[in-house]
Amino acid sequence: MKGTVLIAGLGLIGGSLCISIKKEHPEAKIVGYDRSEREMNLAKGLGIIDEEADSFEQGASGADLIVLAVPVIQIIKLMEVLQRIGLKKNVLVTDAGSVKNPIMKASSNLSDKGISFIGGHPMAGSHKSGVKAAKDLLFENAYYILTPGREAGKDKLAELKTWLKGTRAKFLEMNAAEHDELTGAVSHFPHLVASSLVHTAKKAQKNFPFISRLAAGGFKDTTRIASADPQMWSDITLQNSRVLIKLLNEWKETADELLEIVERQDYEKTFRFFSEAKAFRDGLPVKSKGAIPAFYDLYVDIPDHPGVIAEVTAILAKNDISITNLRILEMREDAVGRLVISFQSHADLEKGKDVLSKETLFEVF
Ligand code: NAD
Repeated sequence: MKGTVLIAGLGLIGGSLCISIKKEHPEAKIVGYDRSEREMNLAKGLGIIDEEADSFEQGASGADLIVLAVPVIQIIKLMEVLQRIGLKKNVLVTDAGSVKNPIMKASSNLSDKGISFIGGHPMAGSHKSGVKAAKDLLFENAYYILTPGREAGKDKLAELKTWLKGTRAKFLEMNAAEHDELTGAVSHFPHLVASSLVHTAKKAQKNFPFISRLAAGGFKDTTRIASADPQMWSDITLQNSRVLIKLLNEWKETADELLEIVERQDYEKTFRFFSEAKAFRDGLPVKSKGAIPAFYDLYVDIPDHPGVIAEVTAILAKNDISITNLRILEMREDAVGRLVISFQSHADLEKGKDVLSKETLFEVF
């Protein structure tokens, strides 16, 4: 597709969108704008954008597609700017914000001016931020939720999907309220709980200074998302506060019920609490990316000797298997180490499992 695309916000999401759009539409001109000159220069230096905009207004006025990939509060501010300036007649505006209600509310002012706005939320990401973390495969197989505004008809929806084809995401349409309820439950609320768990461990550290050394394995896995950007999560929490207040109150009720059954030493109800949670958790899809990201993880027990990690990665490289992540689980200090290797696909995971299990040094599961 030909045309000029302005991406405002050249971070993890904006940068990754630039790469996906350019890959699918090499003839399009990708103009980038970020309030951080450093990120903008980096994006240009890395070849992620074709041009730097002098200002948001200048970039927006010449664009056929405008993508707002800044924090949610900033998206609303940039939408206010779009209301005031002259834009191309058939311009299409979208965003990447993780909360949709306040954005869709703000979009009605754009609709009043005849501007097509389609809310967007690519449900893939990472706890990393910045353009350096951007990558083309970030959205592959992930759900990409679209919330069309009043002025956005079927043709505009099709146009946006064509622009975003290179993301290789799975598009889903819904309204903003449904989106915020859904993502509140499976994405935003878990962040609140993960950070609360870390606060609990931090408090316990006063009495047990060694707690951080013992808080390995399961604790680290459960609280991984607490390492995400505090600014972005404060923004999301306050923008989706209505849904999160409801979920926090429901959680309080669950905590009260749990407190009661534990105080009463009620084995049957305690067992039911865990087994119902396990049944639901085990039933979640694991082979495709979604609202709860699925990871193609392989666990490998390795002996403790220098160079052993290089041996594992060399075997994978020799067999042309790429990995997306590699980390060490500190299960027990005196025992063998456990590596967690993440792959891009289920097929790669199976191949990795096959080649590594042939090595007697490693135990793979
Ligand atoms: P990021 O911190 O990596 O990048 C945001 C960029 O926006 C930064 O470079 C910052 O300088 C720039 N910026 C901030 N305010 C600006 C303004 N007023 N004008 C121009 N540039 C501005 O963040 P990210 O992870 O790419 O998130 C961007 C958006 O995508 C957010 O709305 C977030 O809710 C959403 N999102 C994030 C994830 C994720 O996991 N990171 C997933 C889906 C959606």
